[in-house]
Amino acid sequence: MNTIRLDKARDPAFKRQVEKESGQNLSLCYQCGNCTAGCPGAQVYDRQVSQIMRAVQLGLKEEALKNRSLWLCLSCSTCSARCPNDIDVAAVMETLRMMARREGWVQDRPIESFWKAFLDTVKYTGRSYELGVMADYMARTLRGWGNLEIAPMALRKNKMPFVPSVIHGREEVARIFKRYAEKRS
Ligand code: SF4
Ligand code: SF4
Repeated sequence: MNTIRLDKARDPAFKRQVEKESGQNLSLCYQCGNCTAGCPGAQVYDRQVSQIMRAVQLGLKEEALKNRSLWLCLSCSTCSARCPNDIDVAAVMETLRMMARREGWVQDRPIESFWKAFLDTVKYTGRSYELGVMADYMARTLRGWGNLEIAPMALRKNKMPFVPSVIHGREEVARIFKRYAEKRS
């Protein structure tokens, strides 16, 4: 397990920025570890979620943004539910992921590619389109699909339709993506 490197450069503005973007008061965290104890990703994380919270508190930007845990996080919100101080820890993780992308510190490109592929199908159809996600992911990473052997069964059971089903209100979903892109620029 990695420990936090306290000798790394500190950026006092970083904590304020994370608080602003996540809407959370990070000074409330007293490092009880409840979030880490319930996190289903803990055993594969290179830095635990409570360590990440501490890194943000201390302004250790690189420690908070440069890790694989942000990309292995399942966004399940168990950490938020378990926090005795009502910190929405999952929202902090989401904020850090966005910051890591903005600042070029993504530590797991294939997972990021999967996210992009998934979000692109949501943007254009209003919902997930499995075959599209698969093709997009393979094109972005130049990798084969790890579970290709289950494709015939999924196709047979119509779990991966060839034609995407587009929801009513697709334009409204697309507008959410547009607003987000405008906010970032
Ligand atoms: S949201 Fe992420 S960090 Fe929080 S408990 Fe779930 S997997 Fe762990
Ligand atoms: S559960 Fe809340 S208070 Fe405890 S370490 Fe996690 S974020 Fe901090």
